[in-house]
Amino acid sequence: MLDNFGELKRTHSCGALRGEHVGQSVTLMGWVARRRDFGPLTFFDLRDRDGITQGVFNEETAPAAHARAKEVRGEYVIAVTGEVVERDAAQRNPKIATGDVEVQAREILILNDARTPPFQFEVTSSDGLASEDLRLKYRYLDLRRPQLQANLRLRHRAVAEIRRFMDEQTFTEIETPILIKSTPEGARDYVVPSRLHHGKFYALPQSPQLFKQLCMIAGLDKYYQIARCFRDEDLRADRQPEFTQLDLEMSFATPEQVYALLEGLLARVFKLIGVELPLPFPRLTYAEAMRRYGSDKPDLRFEMELQDLASAVEGTDFAPFAAALASGGEVKGITVRGGGAALSRKALDELQEHAKRYGAGALAWIKLGDEATSSLLKALGEDAVKRVAQAAGAENGDAVLIVAGKSKTVAASLGALRNEVARREKLIPANTYAPLWVTEFPMFEFNDEDGRYYPMHHPFTSPLDEDLPLFERAVEGGETELLKGMRAKAYDAVMNGSEIGGGSIRIHRRDVQRLVFKALGMTEEKARERFGFFLDALEYGTPPHGGIAFGIERLVMLLAGTENIRDVMAFPKTASAADLMIDAPGAIDPQQLDELHIGIAKQ
Ligand code: ASP
Repeated sequence: MLDNFGELKRTHSCGALRGEHVGQSVTLMGWVARRRDFGPLTFFDLRDRDGITQGVFNEETAPAAHARAKEVRGEYVIAVTGEVVERDAAQRNPKIATGDVEVQAREILILNDARTPPFQFEVTSSDGLASEDLRLKYRYLDLRRPQLQANLRLRHRAVAEIRRFMDEQTFTEIETPILIKSTPEGARDYVVPSRLHHGKFYALPQSPQLFKQLCMIAGLDKYYQIARCFRDEDLRADRQPEFTQLDLEMSFATPEQVYALLEGLLARVFKLIGVELPLPFPRLTYAEAMRRYGSDKPDLRFEMELQDLASAVEGTDFAPFAAALASGGEVKGITVRGGGAALSRKALDELQEHAKRYGAGALAWIKLGDEATSSLLKALGEDAVKRVAQAAGAENGDAVLIVAGKSKTVAASLGALRNEVARREKLIPANTYAPLWVTEFPMFEFNDEDGRYYPMHHPFTSPLDEDLPLFERAVEGGETELLKGMRAKAYDAVMNGSEIGGGSIRIHRRDVQRLVFKALGMTEEKARERFGFFLDALEYGTPPHGGIAFGIERLVMLLAGTENIRDVMAFPKTASAADLMIDAPGAIDPQQLDELHIGIAKQ
């Protein structure tokens, strides 16, 4: 039998009681985390979002409540009224904030019962957790875990701080529509069929990009939004089909103004976890980041820069090196300091496998132990091996890992190896935050497969002013190769090896926009079909403008110290974009399909 809730008032949360409350009569409400019976005494841990409080039912002093308490099981929802008493010294629990006291219960109301949960969520470490799929199916139970509750509160505080900061900086929060037309971010759109417009579809925004630019054309000057975005991409563990970003745009802005704004904002947000970010953030151009770290999102918490070994191996006739250099490629290495020489054969094989996943043909190595050993000894001879080790800056005890090939492959594989080695060798200091700006991204990416250029950011990104003449020659003069060297006023904010934000100064001139579409092989008609409304708008007095977007999940992951994006979202989807709790996506009624004039083709 359940009790009526009636008019009973909760006086404190389950995390509130301390020594100073001793002697007070209180009423707590929450979930039963644990019940333990010791004959005439029954103990409870009562849990709510704030914490856990121990309650005790004594057969002698409160026989009715004690008897009733015996009916209670895990996750029942109860209300307990009683007196706060100090625990005996030996019974204190320093692990919980309320551990000095307990509630001597007089009355209990059983407000609701609960089935036995399908998994144990009162666990102290993540090792004890049930499979993630099961927990996602019963997300509302998994969310009862204090860790997830803390993450969601941290997320709330971060977003609240962002709103405060943006308001102080005189930005206006503006909502842009969700049912729109294809956006230019380059991923696949999620589409929604229209009932009223036969055969037509809305697309969900991959970002509010064009709307925020239209806000600038509209003279709104400083826009921001905590925007939900949808991208139908091939999912990776750290991606979600829908996610949230802080999206902002400002008129008459230079990159410097965007950097200063974001640095100020991030500094404020990191204060929430007691971290003072070093300002200003260091900067690397894209070219330099690729050259020195093999990545456009380098983790600067450790060094291990890529070393160019071309001149050290020049003249040797080791075929893979010679071939790489002869075809305009590179030979580069990273030096694993202190302990590198102790890398086992097995570890080196595993690292080679890792490098191969990023396109490397093989991984050559040198270990400077008591004597120098190397996979290159036979091919290069001892002197050359020493020369290479020296060129890599290696000292006794170090190892050098070397990859040869096309510049792109060398960067990708050594960049990935650098992160992997740092992880394995524990070179990453804890609680360290290493932000930076990566600037001057290339305008275009060339796709070898279809022989076409694609925008590296999106097609509304402005080229660097000094590259404009080059751009005209490339597009109007037909020297398309030049497009490869063109740089954009595009920047990413990177922290600890992950991209947390990206943006650019936009094109505000119609003539430059025309060149970009032409470079992308998009006819004027095609461009009009997709973005006509926007191209028209560009002709009505568009101010120079620029902005950035920041992944809220990624940011909160850093703040919360988790690598699982689902840990910072209330109702996330699986890696295959399914919601296991509500069982989405799902089929819809034939009638609904009819209304939409949609037939489902057989597979
Ligand atoms: N729209 C871009 C994105 O979502 C951000 C920007 O350019 O401001 O990545």
